Amino acid sequence: MNPVRNNSNKYSSKNSGEVISYRMNIKQNVPLKNLTTFKVGGCANYFCKVKSVSELKEAVDFSKKNSLQVFVLGGGSNILVSDSGFNGLVIKIEIKGISYEDEKAICGAGENWDRVVESSIQNKLYGIENLSFIPGTVGGAVAGNIGAYGMEIKDNLEWVEVFDTKNLKTIILKKSECKFDYRDSIFKKNNFIITKICLKLSYEENVNLSYKDIKEYFKNNNTPKLKKVRSAIGKIRKNKFPDLKKYGTAGSFFKNPVIEGNKIHLAKILDNLDMKGLREGSIGISEKQPLIIINYGSASAKDVKTFSEKVAHKVYKKTKIKITPEIIFVGKF
Ligand SMILES: Cc1cc2nc3c(=O)[nH]c(=O)nc-3n(C[C@H](O)[C@H](O)[C@H](O)COP(=O)(O)OP(=O)(O)OC[C@H]3O[C@@H](n4cnc5c(N)ncnc54)[C@H](O)[C@@H]3O)c2cc1C
Repeated sequence: MNPVRNNSNKYSSKNSGEVISYRMNIKQNVPLKNLTTFKVGGCANYFCKVKSVSELKEAVDFSKKNSLQVFVLGGGSNILVSDSGFNGLVIKIEIKGISYEDEKAICGAGENWDRVVESSIQNKLYGIENLSFIPGTVGGAVAGNIGAYGMEIKDNLEWVEVFDTKNLKTIILKKSECKFDYRDSIFKKNNFIITKICLKLSYEENVNLSYKDIKEYFKNNNTPKLKKVRSAIGKIRKNKFPDLKKYGTAGSFFKNPVIEGNKIHLAKILDNLDMKGLREGSIGISEKQPLIIINYGSASAKDVKTFSEKVAHKVYKKTKIKITPEIIFVGKF
């Protein structure tokens, strides 16, 4: 690994006599803590932000030339970074843009997800309103197939543009090629980096009030308009999720276990085991929603992981159900 600054103050990398210069700024030893919502973790050896596919291509090229592992970062709201950081190149996707073609919304992978929801609602387009106020980027939302209040992002997805890091080419994947499942997709395991997506929305007034909290909220109004649905979701979520300005968290730490095709409500199990509000120093389980692990201040990534393992162990001991994290561990633990 021998990155050097060339005369134009940009990184270049030498490999077999070849010198490549990079337009984007690749920084060394960048703290990741404040780029995540858990607010823990160490540094990335190498770090860059990419605002276009051509910058992404350069970043991937840099990683290949220097044999660096790559981690693709969005809004950092579904990850736990190791205290020793990430030994490789972290590429933060900042490819922006939202445009509309009739009922379709085309969005850059680095766009803030909730901005997409808000703007679609302003355009009177139905389809993603129940996914209001979920932190993170469009790319992270698709990679994790986000879901809330009876909806998943895959329900309204048409295609995904990806950059294939193996052959450095951009291709379009149809929804059926993305292998979506509960909080899972092809993007969690392979060499595709999401650069752009297309959502198929609708002007038809059709809201999904099937989930119990929303059903209850709208018990006297079964045809609320988009803005009312968004505002209801905002209120419901405010009562469940900790304030990210005050506390560190990545939302639901664990997945609901799926047994013989049936999703089991882990929150109920944790509640029955009296684990709601459980606290060990700076780390604990939310009092409002037991799937959420909170960093109350000075917890380390190791503290979070150890605590989560204790929770999983207790659940297994009492119920014989194995639970797995929803969040992604970044770096060595
Ligand atoms: C308070 C709070 C509430 C939450 N509520 C919900 C909820 O209701 N429902 C829900 O499903 N989730 C929820 N989450 C989890 C989180 O917000 C989502 O998973 C979010 O979509 C993650 O997006 P991100 O951009 O932050 O991804 P990151 O955390 O940065 O990354 C997550 C994963 O996606 C990959 N990734 C990111 N961008 C790309 C890309 N462009 N191409 C390929 N891979 C990529 C990363 O490599 C990583 O594996 C919540 C989190 C918090 C903190």
